[in-house]
Amino acid sequence: MKIFFCIDEAAPLFKIGGLGDVGGSLPKALYSFGIDISLIIPKHPSIMLDQSFAVVRELTVSYDFKTLPVKIWKGLLPGSNVPTYVVEENTYISQNTDASDNHADKFAVFCLAFSTWVHSLAIADKPTIIHLNDWHTAMIPLIDKHILGEKSMKYVMTIHNLMYQSVTTTPIFEKMQMPKEACQIVAWDTQDNNINLLLEGLLHADSITTVSRRYAQEILTDEYGENINEILTLRKKYIAGIVNGLDVDSFNPSTDEALFAKFSSENAIEGKQRNKTALQAELGLAVDENTIVIGFVGRVDVRQKGIELIVEALKQKILIRDTQQFIFLGTGDSQAEIQLHDAANGQERIRIVTKYDEVLARKIYAASDYLIIPSKFEPCGLIQMIANRYGSIPVARETGGLADTIQHGINGFVFKEYDARVMVDALQSAISIGQDRMKKAQMVEIAMKKNFSWDESARQYQTLYESLQTSE
Ligand code: ADP
Repeated sequence: MKIFFCIDEAAPLFKIGGLGDVGGSLPKALYSFGIDISLIIPKHPSIMLDQSFAVVRELTVSYDFKTLPVKIWKGLLPGSNVPTYVVEENTYISQNTDASDNHADKFAVFCLAFSTWVHSLAIADKPTIIHLNDWHTAMIPLIDKHILGEKSMKYVMTIHNLMYQSVTTTPIFEKMQMPKEACQIVAWDTQDNNINLLLEGLLHADSITTVSRRYAQEILTDEYGENINEILTLRKKYIAGIVNGLDVDSFNPSTDEALFAKFSSENAIEGKQRNKTALQAELGLAVDENTIVIGFVGRVDVRQKGIELIVEALKQKILIRDTQQFIFLGTGDSQAEIQLHDAANGQERIRIVTKYDEVLARKIYAASDYLIIPSKFEPCGLIQMIANRYGSIPVARETGGLADTIQHGINGFVFKEYDARVMVDALQSAISIGQDRMKKAQMVEIAMKKNFSWDESARQYQTLYESLQTSE
C-alpha cells in the first residue's frame, strides 16, 4: 500500500493555520507506523528548501494554451524522514505574479502538474491511494479520471473546513482542455456557470473524512452544511469523522525553545508564572504573576472565529475584570483587525497584536491561564489542544472539534449560545472556579497530561486506507 498525501500546507515548510499543522504531522505519524507515505505540496513563493531537496523530475503541463515547465523536488519534511515532493511552477504557483493571484488557476495548475507527474510514474511507484485535503487538491480525481484516463487509484478526501469550497467563474476546465461532460457540475453550478471545486472532489472521492466526529454530523445540517449538506447527505455512508491530533513533539512546553522558561506538568504553576511575567514585560503590561491572563490565538476570520463577540465584549468593556489582562494574537480580515484595535483603545490591560507570529503564539499558550475560543463553527480546532499542552484552560463554544475535545469542567469549559454576554459569563465563571487553587492546579495537570498525539487518529486513517485498498 502506497499513500500520496497531497495538501496545500505542511509545517514547518509552509503554514497559515491548522491545515499546516495537520500537513506537517499526520504524514509523520503514519510514516512512524511503517506506512509507505509521501507528502506532496505546492512550492509556494516563501518556501525555502534545505539541502535534502533535489529536482527529481521535470515535465510540462498545458494550461490556457500555455506550455508550463514544472519541476518536482524531492527531500525530507524537515524534522522527519517523511519523503516530501514539492511542485514548482513559476507562472501560477511558485512566484508572486498576476496569474498566481487567481487561486482557481493556481490550484488547477497544481492539480494538473501533480496528476501529470503521478501519471508518468512507473506502475510500481504509483500510489494505491491519494489522500486529498480541502479544495486546493480536489480537482485531482477529476483530472486523473477524465483527462489522463487513470483508473487504478483510490481517493480519500478530507474536509478541513467546509466553508472554503472555492466557487469560481474562471473557466478552468476549458483551460485544462477537459471534456465538458466529464465534470459533474450540479444544477445550480451549470446555471450560473460557477464551478465548485471542493464539490468536484467530494463527488469523485471513494471516501470522505472530516476532522472531528461532531463536525461530520454538523456538515449534514442546514446550519453548518454551507449549502451542500443535501449532497453530502446523499454521500453520508462514505463520510467519517476522525479527530485531528497534534504534533506533540513540536508543541511540547518542556522542550519549546520559543518559551521564556520551559516547564512540564511537574512544575507547571511556577513555569507558567515565569512565562507570564516575562510576556507581560515584553508586551508592556503590568508585571504581576497573580494577574489572570486570558489569551486568544487564531485567524481573524469573521465568519468563523467569533471575532465579533470579542469586539462586542471589548467595546462594552465587559470581557475582563479589573484585575485581569487579555492578549489577542491573530491576523486576517483587515477591517476586523481595525475594529479590534478601536474596541481595545485606551484599555491598558489589553494587548491586540495583529500579525502572524509563531513564537508569540507559543508564549501566549504558556503564559495564559485561560484561552478564549468563541468560534461560530470549528471543524476541529487545534488551539484548544495546544492550550491544554501548555497548561492553559480553554473556554470555548461547544461546536465541532471543540465539543469533541473539551470536557466541561475537566480540561476546559464550553458554552452554547453564540453571544458576547454568554461568552463573557462562561469566561468569568471559569475564572471564579479557578480561584480555588487546588481545583485549578488539578485542571492544569489533567489538561497537560491529556493525550493529543496522532496515534489513535492515525490508526483510524490506516484502517480506512486498508479497507479502501481491499474494496472494489
Ligand atoms: P484554523 O485551522 O481554523 O486556522 P486551528 O485551531 O486548527 O485553526 O489552528 C490554528 C493554528 O494556527 C495553530 O497552530 C495556531 O497556533 C496557529 N495560528 C493562528 N493564528 C496565528 C498567528 N497570528 N500567529 C501564529 N500562529 C497562529
